Amino acid sequence: MRLETLAVHAGRRVDPTTGAVAPPIHLSTTFERDPDGSYSRGHLYARNSNPTREALEACLAALEGGAAAAAFASGSAATAAVFQALSPGDHVVAPHDAYHGTGRLLRETFTRWGLATTFADMTNPAEVQRALRPTTRVVWVETPSNPMWKVSDIRALAALAHDAGARCVCDNTVATPVGQSPLELGADLIVHATTKYLGGHGDLMGGAVIARVADDMLERVRAVQASGGGIPSPFDCWLVLRGIQTLPWRVRAHGENALKLARFLAEHRRVEAVHYPGLPSHPAHALAARQMRCFSGMLSFQVRGSAAEALGVAAKVRVFTRATSFGGTDSLIEHRASVEGPNSRTPDNLLRVSVGLEHADDLIADLEEALS
Ligand SMILES: *Cc1c(COP(=O)(O)O)cnc(C)c1O
Repeated sequence: MRLETLAVHAGRRVDPTTGAVAPPIHLSTTFERDPDGSYSRGHLYARNSNPTREALEACLAALEGGAAAAAFASGSAATAAVFQALSPGDHVVAPHDAYHGTGRLLRETFTRWGLATTFADMTNPAEVQRALRPTTRVVWVETPSNPMWKVSDIRALAALAHDAGARCVCDNTVATPVGQSPLELGADLIVHATTKYLGGHGDLMGGAVIARVADDMLERVRAVQASGGGIPSPFDCWLVLRGIQTLPWRVRAHGENALKLARFLAEHRRVEAVHYPGLPSHPAHALAARQMRCFSGMLSFQVRGSAAEALGVAAKVRVFTRATSFGGTDSLIEHRASVEGPNSRTPDNLLRVSVGLEHADDLIADLEEALS
């Protein structure tokens, strides 16, 4: 079945006891045993499994074309579970522009657990090749990457990982399953912050790990989920499931709005540069066009001048909201360097935009006014 149909139906069915078409939210922490002591209905205790979470996991696996999924309380909990599934002494190659929290986990938390990490420019396969070691177990890919929206070649990086005996893990939060299918390109695992486009309304936190095959790695991720307990609440699972029903239509609309905004910004005399993979001027537009079905709603632009000029533009918006995060209905704008702190490599004059679902003309008018 096609993505739009899976988004509406995967993991869902009419409730057999009531006929309810929308799925119920199962809040129970514990489940009845059969007289013989078994659990023939599949559930024992809600940290291990819960029917609402199970529905979400089935849906996520179907959307990404994976064998199975494990849902977590946040994208970061899902990311951490992948690293916790490794062993001390293992080595990870990660993008130097990985999601801020992912970089921090590797630098601050997991080095103390004995994981070694080399940060590399994932747009340069030769550099990734040099970073590989005999102990490399994971090559972490994130494309497009934040906040310059660089595009790296999932197929090439997965092949490098496999030649080195490592797995390729792709954070697909920005592109979503609507924009690209990393498992088809050779990735072994996908990580999502469902907080973003999958939830889609800026009102929940969640994450997931999706596996191409149900192997020992997935078993270890599942063990972290069940024993570590970083699980999403049934209500949050339900909200993600609900958000996913409109995901294909939302993501395409976010992308259409983003392209219009990117074209407007590229022509503006106060804009020094626009970073959006959907623009032919993007350095990896050809790769993006090959690898992606649509280019997401995330873009960044640099205002001529310094941080003061960029902050001045962000201060004047009225339709956009000055806030972090992305993937919701509301357009957001953010001065990235000040969020990232003193070690940030992000240009001082860069504003990151999450293009929402308002009318593109209203968004353009708002930025036009803010740039005037
Ligand atoms: C937001 C985000 C995460 C982390 O997700 P949380 O739900 O905030 O923990 C991981 N990767 C990417 C690409 C993200 O945008």
